[in-house]
Amino acid sequence: MPLELVQGDIAAQDVCAVVTAANRELAGGGGVDGVIHRAAGPELLRAIREIGGTPTGTAVITPAFGLSARGVRHVIHAVGPIWRGGTQDEPELLAGAYRRSLELAAQAGCRSVAFPAISTGVYGYPLPSAAEVTLRTITAFLADHPDLHVRVVLFDAGTLNVFRRAWQRLEA
Ligand code: ADP
Repeated sequence: MPLELVQGDIAAQDVCAVVTAANRELAGGGGVDGVIHRAAGPELLRAIREIGGTPTGTAVITPAFGLSARGVRHVIHAVGPIWRGGTQDEPELLAGAYRRSLELAAQAGCRSVAFPAISTGVYGYPLPSAAEVTLRTITAFLADHPDLHVRVVLFDAGTLNVFRRAWQRLEA
């Protein structure tokens, strides 16, 4: 199955590219980003500071630094939208963050990439809606890139269940 939903820790995935939920300033943050930066080490922060920033709905790619011990080659820093009630193009921006990350992984020659649930933490995107946009965007990309394997890593069982139900709805 080219798309897999698992419960786990995004920093513990043995994939070519790991995606983190970054901010526009690429300043490093808490949540998933803090976990990835702790695992990758201070060189990762230096690398994104050199890039300086990227708009909401886009992503940038860097080496994986300390995460390379697990075989990870790249970290992709994706900027999802802050939820503002759904009237500020949040679905398009969330889809853009996933799509751009997938493009960067494919361009880097990766066959495997792991995502967290972007925007569903401090950025407040409602989980069922985020799950639907996430899965729609990934499956659309995979239709054109059948060699890519995508893993969505959900932190707890409740979040995994929301994603599973969204997937069932999309397949119905
Ligand atoms: P954002 O700022 O884009 O909302 P967060 O980092 O606050 O990003 O949260 C994104 C999602 O990642 C949330 O659903 C959160 O529960 C989840 N999460 C937190 N820690 C981890 C982890 N170690 N691995 C995978 N997902 C995690």
